[in-house]
Amino acid sequence: MGSTLSLHTMKVYKFGGASIATAEKMAALLPIVTDVKEPLLIVMSAMGKTTNALEKILNLAINEGAAPAMAAAEKLIEEHAAYARTLLGERDYERADTTVLAPLFAELREVVKSANGNYYDRSYDQIVCMGELLSTAIFNCYLQQQAVPSQWVDVRRVMRTDDNHRDAAIDWNYTKLDAEAIIGRKLKQGRVVVVQGFIGATADGYSVTLGREGSDYTAAVLAAMLAASSVTIWKDVDGFRNADPKQFPDTVKINEISFTEVIEMAYYGAQIIHPKTIKPLHNHNIPLYVKCFLDKSLSGSVIRGDVSGITYPPLIVLKDSQVLIQVTTRDFSFITEDNLSRIYAVFHGLKIKVNMIQNAAISFVACIDNREDKVKAVVAALAKDYKVSLNEGVSILTVRHYTPEIFFGLTKGRQILLRQETRKTLQAVIR
Ligand code: ASP
Ligand code: MG
Repeated sequence: MGSTLSLHTMKVYKFGGASIATAEKMAALLPIVTDVKEPLLIVMSAMGKTTNALEKILNLAINEGAAPAMAAAEKLIEEHAAYARTLLGERDYERADTTVLAPLFAELREVVKSANGNYYDRSYDQIVCMGELLSTAIFNCYLQQQAVPSQWVDVRRVMRTDDNHRDAAIDWNYTKLDAEAIIGRKLKQGRVVVVQGFIGATADGYSVTLGREGSDYTAAVLAAMLAASSVTIWKDVDGFRNADPKQFPDTVKINEISFTEVIEMAYYGAQIIHPKTIKPLHNHNIPLYVKCFLDKSLSGSVIRGDVSGITYPPLIVLKDSQVLIQVTTRDFSFITEDNLSRIYAVFHGLKIKVNMIQNAAISFVACIDNREDKVKAVVAALAKDYKVSLNEGVSILTVRHYTPEIFFGLTKGRQILLRQETRKTLQAVIR
């Protein structure tokens, strides 16, 4: 097929929930899409707070029964229908409804009906994946109405994972073949392809999710598999900043930054990019742009591998909702390798990510996210062999490229419970 396009100029655009929170906002993305002359893959999140709403529907189904869950599901369906009506107009809405939306609405009703508390995580994924399926279907209808040659793909046909529900791991080889065969082929035919971020499917055909905020990761994975030239994440901010403007008053925009810096910031809780996003891009040397969907003329930021000669400002991350767990041996025996490996096995077994650790002669301290169920479980397990105490309501402050003055300023009036520093990074658990 000599007339097909080559994909080496291909771009991946990721639109998050905020950029499509209303029909007006979704419509405003059109010029961003039509500007692109290269092959374009669009990866999209669910609209606004849909994922949270779906989580609530699941919990209703499991704790309160089918009727209230169905009522909440019908409300969400109604909201999506109203959104699509506003976006498409009545006539095109009717067509979209009968062809693409009705089957998705039916799937949502079905999975809500079959939610089962004995398979909580699996039920979660069957329900929560519907947000991305609906948002992308609606956006694709809109693009087609606006004469963009777009094509919707159910990414569950492509993104094959294991069955670790809610945090599924991608089967790279399998997925790459399907990404090329299904998405790559359509792109080569000149289509703009629209897929869901955050979701995939197991070999048995169950839907999965890749972890909250996982759409960035999907964009990076598909970009790596299809050897895209770049990924752009469209956000409501003007680019990458040295701290979250929602937490700190005086932040500065960073025009260019390395993957190494960003992976550290994301790992320690920076909200701007999902931490898993960086590795595939770094490994395949694909630059990541952060641009503002509110004003596409703003220059944004670029994150890439080969950044040199840059002096960074202090990069600050504050991760709230932490709990500090102190584990002490009961009989004054030392915390040595055997104790450490037992303690680690408990965290690992409960799939708890330890955000910060420190050990001393007879005690071990770990900082983890304050998820009630997990904290309870880990305390119960550790208390069998150790004395366990908790400090709740603490935060982890991470500062890269710190100076003593900056650290002092940031922790003024706060109590420091734990502090660690290397040449480039200073971290503290504060209250
Ligand atoms: N919609 C999903 C979430 O809110 C995934 C994402 O937005 O990236 O977690
Ligand atoms: Mg989101």
